[in-house]
Amino acid sequence: MKFKSADVVVIGAGNAALCAALSAREHGASVCVLERAPLSEAGGNTRFTAGAMRVCYSGVDDLKKLMPDLTQDEIDSTDFGAYTEASFFDDMFRMTQFRTDPAHVETLVTNSFKTLLWMREKGVRFVPIYGRQAFKVNGRFKFWGGLTVEAWGGGEGLVDQLTKAAVRDGIQIHYDTRAVELLLDGVDVSGVKVRVDDKLYDIHAKSVIVASGGFQANPEMRTRYLGPGWELAKVRGSRFSTGDGIRMALKIGAANAGNWSGCHAVGWERNAPEFGDLSVGDGFQKHSYPFGIMVNARGHRFVDEGADFRNYTYAKYGRVILEQPQQFAWQIFDQKVTHLLRDEYRIQKVTKVTANTLEELAPKLEGVDAQQFLKTVRAYNAAVRTDIAFNPNEKDGRRTEGLEIPKSNWANTLDKPPYEAYAVTCGITFTFGGLRVNSDAQVLDEDLRPIRNLFAAGELVGGIFYFNYPGGAGLTSGSVFGKIAGRSAALAQARTADESRVAPLVRSVKT
Ligand SMILES: Cc1cc2nc3c(=O)[nH]c(=O)nc-3n(C[C@H](O)[C@H](O)[C@H](O)COP(=O)(O)OP(=O)(O)OC[C@H]3O[C@@H](n4cnc5c(N)ncnc54)[C@H](O)[C@@H]3O)c2cc1C
Repeated sequence: MKFKSADVVVIGAGNAALCAALSAREHGASVCVLERAPLSEAGGNTRFTAGAMRVCYSGVDDLKKLMPDLTQDEIDSTDFGAYTEASFFDDMFRMTQFRTDPAHVETLVTNSFKTLLWMREKGVRFVPIYGRQAFKVNGRFKFWGGLTVEAWGGGEGLVDQLTKAAVRDGIQIHYDTRAVELLLDGVDVSGVKVRVDDKLYDIHAKSVIVASGGFQANPEMRTRYLGPGWELAKVRGSRFSTGDGIRMALKIGAANAGNWSGCHAVGWERNAPEFGDLSVGDGFQKHSYPFGIMVNARGHRFVDEGADFRNYTYAKYGRVILEQPQQFAWQIFDQKVTHLLRDEYRIQKVTKVTANTLEELAPKLEGVDAQQFLKTVRAYNAAVRTDIAFNPNEKDGRRTEGLEIPKSNWANTLDKPPYEAYAVTCGITFTFGGLRVNSDAQVLDEDLRPIRNLFAAGELVGGIFYFNYPGGAGLTSGSVFGKIAGRSAALAQARTADESRVAPLVRSVKT
């Protein structure tokens, strides 16, 4: 196989990479995308997502720009509210315990709407996330939690639409092509060495953008950086996210940044395979725990299931489940709430038990101390403030009182059979530590100077997420920083061309 050199080479073919490629092309560069996976598995973690994207908007008029297909019926029957820049800033700072890099957050927040509009112009369609981010109460949907839009067709749709746009714009995409090393000309990056089958090739480029995801699919790196026990987590997404881009850049002196012992991890089907399964997508997640309770092997509750909207707790509760004995938990619901369970509870590959009484349910919860489970439910039922109204669309304050581990919202007694229980373990989504970049998406070296011709975007950028994560911010971050990386990479090569034209003149003036 012969590779042509390109102005800009992009490593990866997920959301961040494809946005970077489209942006570089728009700024006049010839672009080549390298994807390690075969076409059938291409698109990285992005392909596994629901395509939900966190974006600021001031009302339905903004949403109509993003989603011109919104019908009058949908507008009339929905309270879309607003998600202001101030709310997005607050969410990022609060959830990262004020550790997030303020400059990166500003870039993310202030560019979110215009970047999604740009994607729309490139051909990505967006739709409202009914059912998961808005429930119908008194005949009207109300959105909550700052997450209102998703790409049409979910993650598959997003990858397809971005890939089509890339091909239309003349971007070459090479599948089954794994970047293994960054090429250097002195200290400047000058291309990428790739492996295809058993052969190595050099691809020369004026700029390289690494957008090859985190290290979540690499058990050795997980254990080294996240800590003992993390090799036991299931990987929610792509098996190709083994940290290659991070390692290649660190090897040539890139600086690292961010929460290297932190990651996004959720409650995930206990018997799910080691890596994500594209035929199931994100269906193994189990995110309706705010409406039920979770118990561990000892039969105890171990977390406040209703601490906040699931968007603000789900990404850190995977770690809490991993810390439980034997790394599992059961989620239990009764018939008062089963109609609120998300679609993922109705897939075929699910570890589920049902029973008509709690006594009948207890021994069916495999691995759980049945007697203690019954004591836990009795104490929980007695502690629920049933005098406060239940409302799934807002933090209703319907809570328990007097329990060591409270449930702060959406607390319902478990007393309306048949009961349903679902077994979960920890599923890791992506890692938070990564490369240090500046606001032009240039990768910095350990002296914090830009490494010439090297840019980065997406999951492998460190310093944005710490401890926790507001749902839908990953894709938006990849798009925002991908677009900036593409522009910077294209303009850098244009500047280099200008400099090389100017350099001889300067020399001739001096002599
Ligand atoms: C099940 C699931 C659901 C999720 N849902 C959402 C959601 O709804 N909203 C949201 O915002 N986020 C969600 N996320 C997180 C989201 O997936 C990521 O934040 C985002 O997709 C990361 O995009 P990326 O482009 O940085 O990486 P990826 O999409 O993982 O792309 C990395 C690419 O690099 C390629 N690659 C890796 N190594 C090499 C190499 N050596 N050479 C060449 N190519 C290489 C990979 O094959 C892949 O194509 C979800 C994640 C999972 C797993």
